[in-house]
Amino acid sequence: MDKLVTRFAPSPTGLLHLGHARSALEGWRAAQDSGGRFLLRIEDIDIGRCREEFVAAILEDLTWLGLHWEEPVRRQSQNFDDYGAVLDRLRGADLIYPCFCTRQDIQREIEAAAAAPHGPDGPLYPGTCRHLSHRQREEKIASGVAYGLRLDVARAVARTGELSWHDDHAGAITAQPALLGDVVLARKDTPTSYHLSVTVDDHLQGVTLVTRGRDLFEATHIHRLLQALLGYATPRYRHHDLLTDESGRRLAKRDKALTLRAMREAGLAPAEVRARAGFA
Ligand code: GLU
Repeated sequence: MDKLVTRFAPSPTGLLHLGHARSALEGWRAAQDSGGRFLLRIEDIDIGRCREEFVAAILEDLTWLGLHWEEPVRRQSQNFDDYGAVLDRLRGADLIYPCFCTRQDIQREIEAAAAAPHGPDGPLYPGTCRHLSHRQREEKIASGVAYGLRLDVARAVARTGELSWHDDHAGAITAQPALLGDVVLARKDTPTSYHLSVTVDDHLQGVTLVTRGRDLFEATHIHRLLQALLGYATPRYRHHDLLTDESGRRLAKRDKALTLRAMREAGLAPAEVRARAGFA
């Protein structure tokens, strides 16, 4: 049997907290238990929000926690060409379209619509620019207006047919790629997106088990669609519960006392932190 390949893929926009430790340990333990491989990937496509000091802190805090990973660590900011090449494939297959809407345009359109489609996080992109003609697109691009690229989900689904994936906790899942609407795959200032780069990287790195928080469960519907469009194998998924505080609120970056750094400075041992993350 092929070796399991897992990964932990944090974004260096702050210090790691206990919730991150849980995700990291989930992947690490799965790899350890099966003699598999554990990878670390730095998801730093958002150059404006990511900081080198947080990359350094991630490496230091995970090492302190007792984890190690294969080198070299993949950094998304060094691989924009890979995502660009995949966008070109999707463009060539006529599955993406330029979207010129600003946030305000989208808001206005949603307010004007009698029944705007909704996703798990609120109203979805109403598809305004999907209906532009080739000529209108050319004219807008030539005029220099900023634009992003969106996936035409209905067209993509018409090509792939029904898809499914497996989650270790939730079982067999029928993909619902339309749940998040026509997601953005690239923006003017960031030539890729979370959905695109995570799908490409998990493929290029040969990841076979994706461990991450329940908050990213819905994103997997889109990742599954992209995998089918691009001819990638589909990994197994394990979306784990999110840690909460005493009042049942999800842990967030604002809970400064729960960063790995703060817990270490407060004198906790790595084993105690692992136990608090659910891995005694
Ligand atoms: N970079 C994402 C985050 O920090 C996680 C991506 C993933 O595990 O798929 O939330």
